[in-house]
Amino acid sequence: MNITHAYAAHNTKSALVPFDYTPRALREHDVQIEVLFCGVCHSDVHQARNEWSNSIYPVVPGHEIVGRVTAIGNHVSRHQIGDLVGVGCMVDSCRSCPSCEEGLEQYCEEGFTGTYNGQDRQTGAITYGGYSTALVVDQDFVLRVPANLDPAGVAPLLCAGITTYSPLRQWNVGPGKKVGIVGLGGLGHMGVKLARAMGAHVVLFTTSPSKIADAKRLGAHEVVISRNQEEMEQHTNSFDFILNTVAAQHDLNPFLNLLRRDGTLTLVGAPEHDHPSPQVFNLIMKRRRIAGSLIGGIAETQEMLDFCGQHGITSDIELIPIQQINEAYERMLKSDVKYRFVLDINSLRA
Ligand code: NAP
Ligand code: ZN
Ligand code: ZN
Repeated sequence: MNITHAYAAHNTKSALVPFDYTPRALREHDVQIEVLFCGVCHSDVHQARNEWSNSIYPVVPGHEIVGRVTAIGNHVSRHQIGDLVGVGCMVDSCRSCPSCEEGLEQYCEEGFTGTYNGQDRQTGAITYGGYSTALVVDQDFVLRVPANLDPAGVAPLLCAGITTYSPLRQWNVGPGKKVGIVGLGGLGHMGVKLARAMGAHVVLFTTSPSKIADAKRLGAHEVVISRNQEEMEQHTNSFDFILNTVAAQHDLNPFLNLLRRDGTLTLVGAPEHDHPSPQVFNLIMKRRRIAGSLIGGIAETQEMLDFCGQHGITSDIELIPIQQINEAYERMLKSDVKYRFVLDINSLRA
């Protein structure tokens, strides 16, 4: 197979730079994909910089991938050459543990294989992600992209979309429920759109007053500046569910206080440094819960894409050539992105 052009991080501090590699030869169940677009997730920064202490260099990030099938293995039945497809955070799992059997491959008891910074289950080779011109992936981990949606705007659904969709469904968000989304970044703006489409009353919490108008345009019924104590206290004991997408360490107590009895605060943000432990009495007195949630399974990811197709939902993106990836990281770290960078991978083919 042809050389694949990519961008890689080689250590915790340096900028990402061009990197070429040869992908694995097509196996019987593999699909070869010409990558068209790849979203830039905050997890890419965490791993490019080894903030989760698990990076294996070189790291070729990217797990919000949309592309076209260019070749298929002899036993591929689910996809055809020419199909528009997506790949998210996983490219394999053990497929036989209880979680895999339930379609919850993200919780695979042996650990799922990451699209990048993972290890191929057969060869042990390090996986490389979507900041690349091409990708080879087992057909079972390849998603169908709804034809009516803009493919560049679909890319972020493969991580930001499913990571918010899955907990919203798990905690039964819908009509009659008051739902909070904390942080208006890549995940948060998808959380607002999806919770609104599910019929809930949606409140967006932000540290950025400049995002108020956008949050309402994206679907929030109300916007609260989370650093304003008075505004926060107006919502005490009123939420059924709050989804926290913040990528940095912070105090959880102000959000716990807003949950009604039996309400749940679910964390999806995965900061480098843990949040301080919240006050136990804040939980005890109202039987409140704190939970976590990790992306979503393959079947649920397809369900989310189909839901987005039906509701005309895509991500609000800034499309950039991959050569601007390092500036994009710096802007994302300043919460200065509306609301997801997507890399135009054609810029790597020129
Ligand atoms: P992002 O686009 O950078 O958005 C994060 C948002 O958090 C920012 O836009 C900002 O919103 C808010 N924020 C940032 N720093 C803050 C601070 N110091 N205090 C309060 N709020 C702050 O990041 P993302 O791509 O959405 O990812 C968010 C987090 O989720 C990352 O840690 C990522 O690794 C993690 N993640 C987890 C999963 C999972 O499966 N659990 C999947 C994907 C990503 P405002 O300006 O509105 O305040
Ligand atoms: Zn991600
Ligand atoms: Zn498994």
